[in-house]
Amino acid sequence: MNQNELLEAREQIINVSRQLHELGLLVRTWGNISSRVDEDHFLITPSGIRYEDLTPEMISLIRISDLTYEGDYKPSSELKVHAAAYKVRKDAWFIVHTHQVYASCAGTLGIKKVFSYYEDEDVTIPVATYALPGTQKLADNVARTLHKYKDANGIIMANHGTLCLGADFKDAVFVAQMMESACNDFLIDVCKTDMVHGVENGYNSHLEDGKIVYDHKDTPERVKNIHQQIYARRPDVSYIVHNKSDAVMTVSRRANHMRPLLDDFAQLIGVSVKIPNNEDEIYNNIKKKVNVVFSPKDGAYCVGPTQDEAMAVAIVLDKGCIAYTAVMRNGEGHYLSKLECMKMNRHYRKSYSKLADINSDTKE
Ligand SMILES: [Zn+2]
Repeated sequence: MNQNELLEAREQIINVSRQLHELGLLVRTWGNISSRVDEDHFLITPSGIRYEDLTPEMISLIRISDLTYEGDYKPSSELKVHAAAYKVRKDAWFIVHTHQVYASCAGTLGIKKVFSYYEDEDVTIPVATYALPGTQKLADNVARTLHKYKDANGIIMANHGTLCLGADFKDAVFVAQMMESACNDFLIDVCKTDMVHGVENGYNSHLEDGKIVYDHKDTPERVKNIHQQIYARRPDVSYIVHNKSDAVMTVSRRANHMRPLLDDFAQLIGVSVKIPNNEDEIYNNIKKKVNVVFSPKDGAYCVGPTQDEAMAVAIVLDKGCIAYTAVMRNGEGHYLSKLECMKMNRHYRKSYSKLADINSDTKE
C-alpha cells in the first residue's frame, strides 16, 4: 500500500468506529478496530482515546510477525488478539473488538457456545476461554477458538467482549450487529424476561466549590443524606449518578452481593460490591475502592471524579447487572477470580491516572 492508500485505510477505520459508536456497539474508549494492509501488516486504533477524537495519525501500523509498530500513539493493548486472528484467518481483512452489552453478558454464563438465531437462521457463536485482557494467553485462547471453528466470523471472548471478523468493514460491522441481536434473543430466552440496557437517571448531584448541587430540586432528604455521606467519605468523588435502569433496579431488589462477571466491572467498579437490606447499611458500603453504592430497592449511586467517569461507572454497572441477572436465571456462570479482579483493578487505576496526567499536560 502506498501512503495515500494507507491514509484512506486509516480514515476508513475512523469512519467505521463512528458508525459502531452510533449503533451503540462501541462506547467511550472501549474496544478497538483494525484492518489488514498486507500479509504481514495491519492498522489498529490507539489505546485510551475516544472514538469521537480519533485522527488518522493516531492509527498505528503493526507488523504481525513481531508486533513492532510505527506511529507516535500507543496501539490498542489488544493488538496481540488482532495479530493472532489475522494469523489464523488469512481471509480476514477487517476486525472489530467490542464490549457490546448482550454478547458480553452471554459470555459470562460459562458456556462454550451460544445457540441462537438471526432472521430465522440458526446461529452458533463460539466462546473463547477467559484470560486477562492484554495477555498473550488471551490471544492464544482466541486463536484456538478460531482454529476450531473455521467458519465462525464472530466469537465471544468470555467475560470480556466480542471479536468480529470480515473480508471488509461491512462484513465485520454486520457480524457485530448480528451477534448483538442473536445474543439479546438468547438472553431473553435464558432470563424469561425482556432485557433492556441503558442508564436511567435518578437523583444526580455534583460538587461546586465544595457545595453539593442536586440536579433535581425535589431530591428527598433521605437521598440527600446518602449523597452527603458519599462526598464526606470519598474526597476523590465530585459527581454522583443515581442509576435506576431496569437491570440495576432488579439487582438492588433481589441481590445481596455482586462479584465481577466482566472485566470492565472489575476495572471501573471494584472487586466486590454489597447490596444492603436496609437504609442504615448503605453507609457501611461506601468504600475507597468501590465506585458504586447500592440503595436497597432503589438502584445504585455511581461515583467518580468527573461526570464522565461517574457516567462510565453507571454504564458498566448496568451491563454488569444484566450479566448478574442472566447468571442467576441460568443457574450458573463463570465469575472472575479475586486475584484476576485485583490485578485488573490495580492496572486500570495505574494506567488511568497516567492517562489523566497526559491529558492534563496537553491541556496546559
Ligand atoms: Zn476489550
